[in-house]
Amino acid sequence: MANYYRDSLKDVEAYVPGEQPRDIEQYIKLNTNENPYPPSPVVEHTVRHFNAEDLRVYPDPVFSELRRRAASVFKVPAERIFVANGSDEALSLIMRIAIDPGDRVAYPYPTYVLYRTLAQIAGAETVEVDLREDFNLPEDFPEKAGKVTFLARPNSPTANLFDQQVVEQTLSRSSGLVVVDEAYAAFSGTTMLDHLDRYPNLVVLRTLSKSYGLAGLRVGFAFAGAEVIEALYRVKDSYNINAFSQAVAQAALSDVGYMKSTAAQIIQTRRRALDRLVRQGFRVYPSAANFVFAEHERLSGKQIYEALKDKKILVRYFDQRRLQAGVRISIGTEEQMERLGEVLDEILGG
Ligand SMILES: *Cc1c(COP(=O)(O)O)cnc(C)c1O
Repeated sequence: MANYYRDSLKDVEAYVPGEQPRDIEQYIKLNTNENPYPPSPVVEHTVRHFNAEDLRVYPDPVFSELRRRAASVFKVPAERIFVANGSDEALSLIMRIAIDPGDRVAYPYPTYVLYRTLAQIAGAETVEVDLREDFNLPEDFPEKAGKVTFLARPNSPTANLFDQQVVEQTLSRSSGLVVVDEAYAAFSGTTMLDHLDRYPNLVVLRTLSKSYGLAGLRVGFAFAGAEVIEALYRVKDSYNINAFSQAVAQAALSDVGYMKSTAAQIIQTRRRALDRLVRQGFRVYPSAANFVFAEHERLSGKQIYEALKDKKILVRYFDQRRLQAGVRISIGTEEQMERLGEVLDEILGG
């Protein structure tokens, strides 16, 4: 490596996203936890009628209207809401406000890989705490907290919901920020948003990417105490949310009913898909998300992944410690999951 770069860059492993094959129409795509349903008709209408003239001027740098809408949806005062270009940007800005090189950043293993990447970019000391055999947090997790601690709740790729008591102990013991990443909260029925008043070090993240079916729009939210929110404003790019995304995000949040009905459908499909996978010889971890992590009794994760890919179904395989035995399967439509079931019957019976 030439000498142009910061030292910490040497250790950074590039993020490997889920595959997006060129002939994507040919595939049933159950590998990146996207919503199988289209965005709300209100979003569709807003996109169709968006006025190009509105792009001539800079967007609202503090997203006032969008925050007002978010305040009423999430029941959090607008001053405690920050809008990010996807929750990934919020994660990155949190590192920027809190981490100097050498500071400790803690998170469980296995979890969302971006936490490690961001910690490495920041030159932090990474503290990776192994989850228990059932993928829940170990009881001593609160003692390992860092200047920043990340908890995905529900967790990815394991789909389970960390014990709230251990999360709260982490919040009360830690003198650093504890980020509870609720990307999949809509499928879990629980949230830590109502704990913001109790814990000044709590940051809750939400996103429109999964439950609202808007992964391409790039809008996420951080909820925290006014001081943390103010710090985020200080370090963000001036216009981090473009005008189009602000308008469309507002439309999405004006139709929460649609999001709830598609989430309910996905939860129902999840139950049926999970039962069938169990009948087919999979160990499936309890899921509070729009995906399941499943290990087969005879075939490895890689074998399942490859056999499904041959049949034009994409699931996610992680070639990492503790994950090689299984695959992560996003919950699609009823029809897509029915097809998955049939193809697995062929693979496993044949
Ligand atoms: C998908 C995902 C994100 C990213 O969300 P964006 O808003 O699309 O950036 C963040 N955290 C977890 C745990 C996720 O699974």
